[in-house]
Amino acid sequence: EDSFDEECDYLFKSVMIGDSAVGKSNLLSRFSRNEFRLDSKPTIGVEFAYRNIKVGDKLIKAQIWDTAGQERFRAITSSYYRGALGALLVYDITRKATFENVKKWLRELRDFGSSDMVVVLVGNKCDLGHSREVGEEEGRDFAEEEGLCFMETSALENVNVEEAFLHMVNKIHQVST
Ligand code: GDP
Ligand code: MG
Repeated sequence: EDSFDEECDYLFKSVMIGDSAVGKSNLLSRFSRNEFRLDSKPTIGVEFAYRNIKVGDKLIKAQIWDTAGQERFRAITSSYYRGALGALLVYDITRKATFENVKKWLRELRDFGSSDMVVVLVGNKCDLGHSREVGEEEGRDFAEEEGLCFMETSALENVNVEEAFLHMVNKIHQVST
């Protein structure tokens, strides 16, 4: 169904950002191929994935870029952000530091990305509620202050993954067409 030859009305580039091991690659593989990996390889070897999404009567090809582990070294370059209309900014609800670093990622987004980029803040690993370090309200309040969309997800249990990406794509469609 997601054939590359299919005629699309729009191609939207988006990027995955956030600290290492928060679950960016697994969120993307869950969304694009319904796959999850328990081992923590820094990369699943893809630099981007596609999925075709119907919005109204338009067919949108969502092209989503993932880091190949270079976020460890803060070595993401401006070309990663170039042309991106959306970003999924991910933290891990069981590691406070990854939430604190969201501010740094936002600064980088504002330096390198376009100002009207749609940003969805995602608190991932909500299946690990027993080791939660960031409250859902904390995430939601911060997102509201910064004008971001917000969602808690689990790539493992496939909770809100579809919703987070589709929300981003729909919002991009609203603001850019
Ligand atoms: P990335 O470095 O941000 O791309 O993170 P990965 O997708 O490689 O995931 C890092 C580790 O977290 C891996 O061991 C994954 O199996 C695990 N992981 C990712 N998402 C979830 C999730 O929603 N729940 C749980 N429990 N583990 C997850
Ligand atoms: Mg990764």
